[in-house]
Amino acid sequence: MLKRLLPILLIFVIACKSKKQSADLLVKNAHVYTVNNNFDTVSAFVVKGGKIIAVGKADSLENIYEAKQVVDAAGKAVYPGFIDAHAHFFSYGLSLQTVNLVNTSSWNEIVDSVVAFSRTNPDGWLIGRGWDQNKWPVKQFPDKSKLDSLFPDRPVMLTRIDGHAAIANQAALNIAGIKPGQTLTGGTIETVKGKLTGLLVDNATGLVSHKMPTPSEEQLQNAFINAQANCFAVGLTTVDDCGLDYQLVPLIKQLQNEAKLKMRMYVMLSDKPENYTYLFKRGIIKTPRLNVRAFKVYADGALGSRGACLLQDYSDQPKWKGFLLSDPKHFAEVAKKIYDKGFQMCTHAIGDSANRMILHVYANVLKGKNDKRWRIEHAQTIAPNDFKLFGDNSVIPSVQPTHATSDMNWAVKRLGLTRIRSAYAYKQLLAQNGWLPLGTDFPVENINPMYTFYAAVARQDLKGLPATGFQMENALDRKQALMGMTIWAAKANFEEKEKGSIEVGKFADFVILDQDIMTAKNADLPKVKVLKTYVNGEKVYEKN
Ligand SMILES: [Zn+2]
Repeated sequence: MLKRLLPILLIFVIACKSKKQSADLLVKNAHVYTVNNNFDTVSAFVVKGGKIIAVGKADSLENIYEAKQVVDAAGKAVYPGFIDAHAHFFSYGLSLQTVNLVNTSSWNEIVDSVVAFSRTNPDGWLIGRGWDQNKWPVKQFPDKSKLDSLFPDRPVMLTRIDGHAAIANQAALNIAGIKPGQTLTGGTIETVKGKLTGLLVDNATGLVSHKMPTPSEEQLQNAFINAQANCFAVGLTTVDDCGLDYQLVPLIKQLQNEAKLKMRMYVMLSDKPENYTYLFKRGIIKTPRLNVRAFKVYADGALGSRGACLLQDYSDQPKWKGFLLSDPKHFAEVAKKIYDKGFQMCTHAIGDSANRMILHVYANVLKGKNDKRWRIEHAQTIAPNDFKLFGDNSVIPSVQPTHATSDMNWAVKRLGLTRIRSAYAYKQLLAQNGWLPLGTDFPVENINPMYTFYAAVARQDLKGLPATGFQMENALDRKQALMGMTIWAAKANFEEKEKGSIEVGKFADFVILDQDIMTAKNADLPKVKVLKTYVNGEKVYEKN
């Protein structure tokens, strides 16, 4: 009997073996932070058709699945792909085609960079971005005199790191038709002793930038593609682009369809009539790699250029409170319009006055707890009694931890010792709704999400200062910081069901790092490197 059954049994075993389910990819020998509800760690997972189809232990998964490709993570830590909840991906890409002034340490160095760039780019406008006078020995805004003598005929426009101020030379000011003493709402054109200094703040920068030549089709495409390459190398698999014009949406779609752009994008359209018309007519645009359902509105400027709108005077400039960028009526009108059409509103608010105004505008429309996920971008300085308004109306603060560590040394001068206590107050903001998306605001800050993680937990700059951390009562713990860069950022985009964790059914977006950020020493966090980045189960970056 047994003799007769044995061959049949054997055939059955072989048949079972070959009946293994096919898969595209098995990641094993990994320390996988799934970032699921239980914050479980596993050692392996399986990918098919761009999605995660199984999570668990390698030996049991290997019994079930036959993967075309196996990635042995060699014991390294694996995380869901990082999401930057607030960035300027496109303008970062464009900035890669201009003079990079980030980390310049004096006005002379900036002028030298422009001169060097002008030699290899002999025609047209000279455009640069990234200076920050707070990093110079003399922390004063520059004037245009040097640029005028070096470039009497070529227009020059150099934008501050935060985009809220710029220095333009006379050739550029002439093109924009700017005259000494000229004024405008929501901005400043600096005139000293009857002469233009070239310094333009907030809305005044637009007078010149609108005259700059528009980039060619090729430059536009390269902006996305160059930005993507750098972002994949730091482990980003989704970026929120905060404030684009609708004309770029078809280009993004096209680049994604052609598989030139594999980055997933969450696009907020800028607060302009034509953008509302475009999206209201089409409705939410949602593909696996693109989500357009939000509008980005600006309430005020930035603290560095004293454009943030405060309730009381700036501590380092009496009789000056900053200003709102539009009349409060405007914010109420757009809020109503966006709400009625079922879209998300995301408003830049830095000063405590701007935040209070927007919180009230939101409250009037949202009327209590809700799941509309309306966001305040930055939520930087909040009057102590206003924190609760975030929770009361389910308003989501979207914060950038590196802003805290970039600003801390001068922010205290702007705000004074009392107000600074409720600025960059991430833990207090997290407590409002129980979740908090994190971002960088790049190119204002570096694109690297490791810096975000480090700044969130250690609240120190890259020099390790201050030694005990800045206002540590508002530090996040590592689990919170990781969730802020993954699942909570996904939730801020209404995408928590498709990304933000390594779970069955989600996109196979993940990163392998050279160190475990959940256990590495604080000082090592900024040095952590990405070994591999995957989007949709496809390797899009590998460290060489
Ligand atoms: Zn921004």
